[in-house]
Amino acid sequence: MEKKTVGLSDNFKGNTAPKNFIKNPITGTKFTIAISSAKGGVGKSTFAVNFALALKAIGQKVGILDADIYGPSLPKMMNINDKPKSEDGKSMTPINQYGIQCMSIGFLVDKDTPMIWRGPMVTSAIKTFTQKVLWNDLDFIIVDMPPGTGDTQLTFAQEIKVDGAIIVSTPQEIALLDVKRGINMFDKLKVPILGLIDNMSFFEAEDGKKYNIFGKDGVEKVAKDFKKEFLGKIPINVDLRIAADSGKPLVEENPDHPISIIFKETATKVKEYFFK
Ligand code: ADP
Repeated sequence: MEKKTVGLSDNFKGNTAPKNFIKNPITGTKFTIAISSAKGGVGKSTFAVNFALALKAIGQKVGILDADIYGPSLPKMMNINDKPKSEDGKSMTPINQYGIQCMSIGFLVDKDTPMIWRGPMVTSAIKTFTQKVLWNDLDFIIVDMPPGTGDTQLTFAQEIKVDGAIIVSTPQEIALLDVKRGINMFDKLKVPILGLIDNMSFFEAEDGKKYNIFGKDGVEKVAKDFKKEFLGKIPINVDLRIAADSGKPLVEENPDHPISIIFKETATKVKEYFFK
């Protein structure tokens, strides 16, 4: 009797083989940088807006794309209450605020409306934002990614040309675990990691004493272990928080603040990476 073996048919294997995606650059920009964090609440959006403004401060033309479909923060952080205009009913013009071209799902929906969307709708929104927005003559688009490793990250990594990623984390053990996952994801998807940022790194009291509230040097250690660049430490700072809540980020509000200087130093490092 003929022996039968159990296995996947060639047809099935063909269907499940990894697809070769075509990565389209975002039109209207030279470079796209994803700002990512493994966890929510570590200061990713605060970093993204201040970093974008720091790039502007050192002479770059910059846009911010808020890709956090489920929790957009750009309208509040940049104090934008307008809706983007469309000349032809197909494309959208980004909203200019503080000299930065901005786009967010938060401009299109009421701020109290929850985005109850399935993955494919998120993917479709991301494609609209990257292909149907009239980004104009930019050096950099800073993409504020949602936390984690979900649909948005996959869409970006597989279908959009991302030139580099910055991973923001607090030095806390629990956040670091996810940072390692984030590093592995970008490595796997062949997106170059520009470096890691240690946010809420420490708190400096008025007497100059430093408190390592979330732990010490954790992000720097992960960077070393994974042979990635360490881009620097941003302390817990009340001016940074107040400016973020007020809708005028600290780098714009007070460009000479010691924290703004840290942002500008980081922006200079990143700019030099791209424009050697
Ligand atoms: P995420 O985008 O990671 O969810 P946010 O940028 O929204 O995080 O930051 C969460 C909160 O922490 C905000 O209220 C923000 O103003 C505050 N924050 C972020 N970084 C700092 C910092 N270095 N010092 C003080 N407050 C910070």
